[in-house]
Amino acid sequence: MTSYTLNTIHKIVKSIDRSTDLSTALNNLVQGIHDALHVDVCSLYLSDNTSDMNILMATHGLNMEAVGKVEISYSEGLVGLVTQTGETVNIENAPSHPRFKYIPEAGEDPYFSFLGVPINHHGEHLAVLVVQQESARRFGDQEIAFLTTLAAMIAGNIAFAKARGLIEELLSGTKTSGGQFMGIAGAPGITIGEGVVLYDPVDLLSVPNRYSTNPEREETQFRAAIEKAVIELQNVSQLYENKLPEADRLLFDAYALIASDKELIKANIKRIHEGNWAPGALRETIEEYAQQFENMDNEYMRERANDMLDIGNRILGYLQSEADFDRDFPDKVILIGENLGPLDLSKVPGDKLVGIVSGHGSGYSHVAILAHALNIPAVLGFSGQIPLSKLDGNKLIIDGYTGQLIVAPSEPELQAYEETIASEAELRKDLTQLNDKPAETLDGYRIRLYTNMGLLTRVTHLIDVATEGIGLYRTELPFMVKDNFPSEEEQYTIYREIIEAYAPRPVTLRTLDAGGDKVLPYFKFKEPNPFLGWRGIRVTLDHPEIMLGQLRAMLRASKGYENLKILLPMISNLDELDRSIRFIHRAHDQVTAKGVKIKFPQIGAMIEVPSAVYQIKQIAKRVDFVSVGTNDLIQYLLAIDRNNELVAKLFDPLHPAFLMALSDITKAAKKYNKHLSICGEAAGDPLLTILLIALGVDSLSLSAGDLLRVKSVIRSFTYEDALKLWKRVKKYETAEPTRKVLSLELEKRGLGGLLRAGK
Ligand code: PEP
Ligand code: MG
Repeated sequence: MTSYTLNTIHKIVKSIDRSTDLSTALNNLVQGIHDALHVDVCSLYLSDNTSDMNILMATHGLNMEAVGKVEISYSEGLVGLVTQTGETVNIENAPSHPRFKYIPEAGEDPYFSFLGVPINHHGEHLAVLVVQQESARRFGDQEIAFLTTLAAMIAGNIAFAKARGLIEELLSGTKTSGGQFMGIAGAPGITIGEGVVLYDPVDLLSVPNRYSTNPEREETQFRAAIEKAVIELQNVSQLYENKLPEADRLLFDAYALIASDKELIKANIKRIHEGNWAPGALRETIEEYAQQFENMDNEYMRERANDMLDIGNRILGYLQSEADFDRDFPDKVILIGENLGPLDLSKVPGDKLVGIVSGHGSGYSHVAILAHALNIPAVLGFSGQIPLSKLDGNKLIIDGYTGQLIVAPSEPELQAYEETIASEAELRKDLTQLNDKPAETLDGYRIRLYTNMGLLTRVTHLIDVATEGIGLYRTELPFMVKDNFPSEEEQYTIYREIIEAYAPRPVTLRTLDAGGDKVLPYFKFKEPNPFLGWRGIRVTLDHPEIMLGQLRAMLRASKGYENLKILLPMISNLDELDRSIRFIHRAHDQVTAKGVKIKFPQIGAMIEVPSAVYQIKQIAKRVDFVSVGTNDLIQYLLAIDRNNELVAKLFDPLHPAFLMALSDITKAAKKYNKHLSICGEAAGDPLLTILLIALGVDSLSLSAGDLLRVKSVIRSFTYEDALKLWKRVKKYETAEPTRKVLSLELEKRGLGGLLRAGK
């Protein structure tokens, strides 16, 4: 496809994105295709899977009166053929085709050639795009490629309109309420709040409209931002005085002139006084200017649309430094962003943040893990399905158990969810009765339940569950939030606080596991596959000074206590393990050199890479305990990116291959008499718990919110029951029968409610 063609496609997509209502969007679509392909007719038929009817929703070329009225069954006509086969249909002489259906009110008479392309979204058929021509001819490959590409690019918009009921609205002429969208369960819980979009600071087009109560403040900030942007552009021009020819430098002068253009400023301020906040008003003004350039015939002038966006982005940058993100927050914020990371959550005051919606990610992304630790429901994976910036200011319900997001809920929806929230609270109250009871099966088999910590910087005393210790302390955060490595003293203070707070209960500190999606701001290089790259122990072994500093801080922090365990992440070969153990000895020698007494800690290896499963015996021989990192082990074993919403449904802790790996790991741990712990999100899965009892796991490390649910499962089974179930399910070749059998067992014991509350 030529870049000209791609540009045209992008132009059409943009015109759809910018449309304020569905009817305009669809008209822009058919008009754009008509103009680009020089066809006589372009139409869009929406496929209604409940009535099995294709409905004409927009056309350029057919009778406009027929829009919304012409409905053709899936079993009829060439449009129906596209729907039924899911394939492109390209026909030279349509009227002579056996499936051709003549629809008099559409005014189709003179058109012979027909090309129909399906619009599919995540496996669901949504609509058919049709182009027709009077002359009898077969459409060419380029035309097919054009329509297929466009169909893939606009599928998300159509799915969004459909889910929000906008199509019904358009057909019936009445207003319906918001819509329901299915994403991925990120962190459990149900919450109701108001959407606040965290937009990309360098992408003006992602800025939402937001109502402002203080236009004077917005205007002042806008004027200050313009002034700074103009000075910056003038400075750039001067900077290049001897380096660039004058003709090229003129570009920056031209930019400065545009940025200070009186009309542009006036239009922007008018929007501000009409109620929009400054960044939203800026986006609208710049878009309007850019659109004018885009509509020009001359290609050079069309390119200037990009210059407008560039200028807009610069002004936006200054606007952001003028304006604080944390102003005017509603009381219950549901934070929304295309790609939220763990640190973004701190941009909203903690007492106001009630929920999280992210375009990308899955339940195993670190943002979800953090939300889980904070007990904040999260739903993820809406990218391409919903233009998230349009959710700003909307009332939202999120269901972190199922992944559902409800936009602008109706009264009955709100009522139903409020009831569910109340019964959830009841369930939690019931569970708190287990707080002081041991995690023990009915026949006395004991499992230690520890909690995860560490994506939060400080010890949280808010956790009201009686944990038996810290099974996994992720030490990454202090390394991620600063512009340099935290000093040994800073680390010492953090670790000491935890070790003291939990002693004599064990505290497992994991050495730095940076890399993957946990980026250190001072390592700014880009890796093509960060999860297969410089991650975890690979980073620290390459930096003995960091590794030793961290180990010394941990060991010193444990002075006077005997509860420190050190855990090594991402071990993928024995050399890494041996070298790490030598580092721990070296650090211990250093901190005890002057006669200081510090107990040598227990050392553990994380089993989270398939090679470690195959070498589990050799690993077990070398350490005091092993800890299975289920998030990464499933990711690497099943080749499923833990952050990728497109494959999140495949990420399954009941996959037979993963269960076999667990079984091998437990056998080796028993053989060498080593403790075995399971951590990662799957450790909190009530179904997997049953099998972990059977496998003889000693301890689990969980998000605090999962602890009592898992305890209630352990206390409802005998070891013998669990073993029988394991013997049965280990024969299954897929995960589904295992899920059915185990779910039924929970329901039999009156624990069905936990399933809803499980991932
Ligand atoms: C894991 O991989 O399961 C784990 C506990 O480590 P993290 O989630 O920090 O990668
Ligand atoms: Mg891991």
